[in-house]
Amino acid sequence: MWVHDLETLQFLDVNEAAVEHYGHSREQFLAMSILDVRPPPERGEGCETGAVISGSGRTWRHRKRSGEVIEVALYSQTLPYEGRPASLVAAVDMTVRKRAEEELSRTRLFLDTVIEYVPAVIVVKDAREFRYLLINRAAEEFYGISRDEVIGKTVYDIYPKETADRITSNHRQSLAEGQSRISYEHEVQTPRNGLRLITARSLPIIDAYGEPQYLLTVVEDVTERRRAEQRIAHLAHHDALTDLPNRAAFAERLAEALDRASLRGESFAVLCVDLDHFKEVNDSCGHAVGDAVLREIARRLRAAAGDAFLARLGGDEFALIATNGAQPAGAAALGDRLLAALVEEIEFEYHRFSIGLSIGVAVYPLDGTNATALVGNADAALYRAKAAGRGVVRFFEPDMDMQLRERRALQDDLRAAIGRGEFVLHYQPQARIDGRMIGFETLVRWRHPSRGLVSPASFIQVAEESGLILPLGEWILREACREAASWETPLNIAVNLSPVQFRHGDLPGLVHSLLIEAGLAPSRLEVEITEGVLIGDTARALSILRRLKALGVRIAMDDFGTGYSSLSYLQLFPFDKIKIDKRFVADVGQSEQSNAIVRAVIGLGHGLDMPVMAEGVETADQLAFLEGEACDEFQGYLLGPPRPIAEYAELVGEPPRVKASVARAG
Ligand code: C2E
Ligand code: MG
Ligand code: MG
Repeated sequence: MWVHDLETLQFLDVNEAAVEHYGHSREQFLAMSILDVRPPPERGEGCETGAVISGSGRTWRHRKRSGEVIEVALYSQTLPYEGRPASLVAAVDMTVRKRAEEELSRTRLFLDTVIEYVPAVIVVKDAREFRYLLINRAAEEFYGISRDEVIGKTVYDIYPKETADRITSNHRQSLAEGQSRISYEHEVQTPRNGLRLITARSLPIIDAYGEPQYLLTVVEDVTERRRAEQRIAHLAHHDALTDLPNRAAFAERLAEALDRASLRGESFAVLCVDLDHFKEVNDSCGHAVGDAVLREIARRLRAAAGDAFLARLGGDEFALIATNGAQPAGAAALGDRLLAALVEEIEFEYHRFSIGLSIGVAVYPLDGTNATALVGNADAALYRAKAAGRGVVRFFEPDMDMQLRERRALQDDLRAAIGRGEFVLHYQPQARIDGRMIGFETLVRWRHPSRGLVSPASFIQVAEESGLILPLGEWILREACREAASWETPLNIAVNLSPVQFRHGDLPGLVHSLLIEAGLAPSRLEVEITEGVLIGDTARALSILRRLKALGVRIAMDDFGTGYSSLSYLQLFPFDKIKIDKRFVADVGQSEQSNAIVRAVIGLGHGLDMPVMAEGVETADQLAFLEGEACDEFQGYLLGPPRPIAEYAELVGEPPRVKASVARAG
């Protein structure tokens, strides 16, 4: 502070702060005028107008003794001093504050730039009416709206009332929550980007009095992320091929159905569905065709399922949960609809497929009160449906459970038995009708550690279902070829092949290498097949049969008369032999019907130039009848039962077993 003469501008007095701040001593000040503390270029400024320090708070540039120029704001009050007009001046050095202000404005500019260009959508509204105060460039782009159109407006000016209400209520909640950030997810219609799903996080900005002044909202477009998340969630619960719910989704839905049904005392049904002969589509036409067929089947089943829940459990297995309607009537009707949906052939590219369904049903609570029991019992019923010739709906019956468990145990046993080599071959002689020996049919037996010799009738089917017939069948073929090759008398050997062996791997290649391995002439090997081989993908089966025949191996049609469309199959392939099933032979001479069938088959075979063999010949009368009908060959207990080959040693000649084993050992 100082006092200066209003006319001469001479300092009349200064205080300690002035001395300290300017660096002039009191004496020096008193020898100076206020023009002397100004930098030279501005020294005379204002003198001519008399506004040397006019007004209060105006800033001037002053120079300290050190030469440093500062800005000072001057506040003056005129007053007489020692009788002269003088001015009392308070000078405030503004330099520091100004520097801080400059710094502040630079920082603001920087922050504005950041906010403007940051890729996040940022919106600031006032905290009272939620009027837009600021939106950044990203917000302009995202909403497709310019800031001029929104600043000063509220959400009600921009959005439909419903959306605006929701945003406003979110804002209110954010204010109520104070500093904590909460985010809201909702959809907005944007002119540029269509309907978007956003999350908005609003943060109240508090003023000096602790009142919310602004509401800062950061908006994130989560449309794509949510879509991806939904897709992942969908994939976790759906089968990628057919888009049907998958096994996991089925388990969840079943748990729900159980909860609800037990709570309300209701009933519902679980249906297990399996496609008949689907594997052949894959095997013969490749997976691309198989996939297309599966998709079409899924489409039809979905349409037929109505309000029942349909899932694909994997492969060619589907399952349904029928919660509506009374059970079991509802499930029966649903089963019929499903069967009907696949009656029409499926056409794909140049193929036509006729694929049927087998359906097993279990009803809550009668057939089970938990998921495992219900599905297990529906499965047991399904197994029975398949055994019943497929294309049928079967309901669970209590004794099925037992059978299913036995079948599983048998499968495990079989697998272990193959590993342990518990199988043996028995050989049954075959002869011309006049008794001259032709050879032997090999019939497999399971030498079970506790059950003794087990008949193939009780395990071949399970071996086929589980695929175990493949290693077992290969062992049988190898063993039979090796055995026949060791005989001195070059009799034929007949080996039964399962349809499953035709559908997997390279059967002709296997037969070829086994013949070479054993050193057996192909003409001595006969394979017996049943109609099952030709059902399904007939073209593929025929091609395999032709390749087998090209090796020089003979092909016999076994169990003739027990199948469906025997005549048409006989036309398809030049079989080397037809074997009349033993059930017809058993009744000849007693049942006119059997007589007629046997007579017809013999006639048919001869018409097609195929020799006919009768199997299961037990009595001389049966043989006499067959001889009378000009049957070519026979097999049966009359000639000899299936026995270990050692018991027929005199028929095959003394086998060079020692030599063979030495050769093998070497
Ligand atoms: P299959 O090929 O028709 O075999 C003839 C069946 O009739 C044999 O039963 C045989 O023991 C029986 N049999 C033979 N002579 C008589 C007779 O005079 N009277 C009566 N009542 N039965 C007679 P097995 O050995 O129990 O075989 C049953 C079926 O199991 C076979 O029928 C065949 O389909 C299948 N099988 C047997 N061995 C094999 C094999 O090595 N591989 C494959 N894939 N299947 C086999
Ligand atoms: Mg046979
Ligand atoms: Mg047979």
